[in-house]
Amino acid sequence: MADPELLAAINQIKAIDNHAHPKRPLKEGESDPATDFADPFDSPFDVPVRLRLDNPEYNSAQQALYLSGEPQTTKASAEQLASAKKRAREEKGEQFPAWILDRLNIDVMFANRVAMGSGLKAPRFLWVPYGDAFLFPLDNTDAGAANPDYRAQFNGATRLLQAHLRDAGLSQLPDALAGYLSKVVDATIARQKSSGAVALKFTLAYMRTLDFGNPSEGEAARIYARFVKGGVPSPADYKTLQDFIFRHIAMKSGELDLPLHIHTGAGASGYFNQTGASPFLLEPLLNDPKLRRTKFVLVHGGSPFAQQTRMLLYKPNVYADFSAQTFLLSTRELSVVLRSWLEFVPEKVMFGTDAFEITPEVGWPEIAWLSNHSAREALGLALTGMMADGQITREQALELARSVLRENARKLYALP
Ligand SMILES: [Zn+2]
Repeated sequence: MADPELLAAINQIKAIDNHAHPKRPLKEGESDPATDFADPFDSPFDVPVRLRLDNPEYNSAQQALYLSGEPQTTKASAEQLASAKKRAREEKGEQFPAWILDRLNIDVMFANRVAMGSGLKAPRFLWVPYGDAFLFPLDNTDAGAANPDYRAQFNGATRLLQAHLRDAGLSQLPDALAGYLSKVVDATIARQKSSGAVALKFTLAYMRTLDFGNPSEGEAARIYARFVKGGVPSPADYKTLQDFIFRHIAMKSGELDLPLHIHTGAGASGYFNQTGASPFLLEPLLNDPKLRRTKFVLVHGGSPFAQQTRMLLYKPNVYADFSAQTFLLSTRELSVVLRSWLEFVPEKVMFGTDAFEITPEVGWPEIAWLSNHSAREALGLALTGMMADGQITREQALELARSVLRENARKLYALP
């Protein structure tokens, strides 16, 4: 059990959530296409226990979020909870997302979205756009053939890149790679940064493996020029081009001081390539002396390869959050991961919820509640164990909790 006094103090800390997918408050019948860029996967997969809709934790989440302040007699019915949620949405209107953060003691939530929009405003919600589309400017027919789940991502990437072209005032892709990099890639990233982006996110592990070669500009430029007007590049040629573009973006990210968020570890789709999402695959990038100014944030901490992530925290340019481990693992198992990280390089470990919408009933607020709850309790368990073993004092335990929940992110992103 976590030390009750320590846990109570941990629950008071105003957190910074390094990774989440909040939605705008929607009116009846309205949709929010700017949440994600990809199409839904059409292949079925088996849902882990804590993400199943019948998980009783969601009942607790809704009770705590929407019914607190009312007498807690017996367990509320699904109807009572649904109407309490509807009432909260209507009463709070545009303030609903920020009100949810208040209920969770989350000060700032990073919103990984195509675009922001009403109801999701700074300083409570800070933007993390997707960079994936930059890597797929050519015909994606063969690239998508490698894995049935890649298709949904490529369709979205194509749409997103078209939107970037329009925003850049271009009617088609530039003829040469140099023009593409400056007029589309660099121009879009600069625009995103000046619109308030705090990081650039890549979900590449849903579209390819995370091993990056180090091709020359000449090689990449030849492939781009040959296929930009049509024709399907071979998977090997396309990968060469992608590897070059990604290294270019990583370099840019260092220059602009815009950290890179990279999805590492488990992915939620039936054909997801787990092996190809291992954090160690990123080592050639992390070890490139030219990329030491780039801050790489391993989103989800590479779970189930959390011990790979732990060892990568040695590197001065590597950080990690434990988002999604907060619902994929039990609180007990998460506490074991956290303790191993905290005993290593605790200054690089960050809280994250990965709050996302499963259904309108189990939406981002419910997942945020579950993640937030588990994260704080797991942190309490880990620190209680370290105190019991004489590794840290109570004051140091609280200091570590503040670092993980808030201060490490505040420093990395230079937040006020
Ligand atoms: Zn996510």
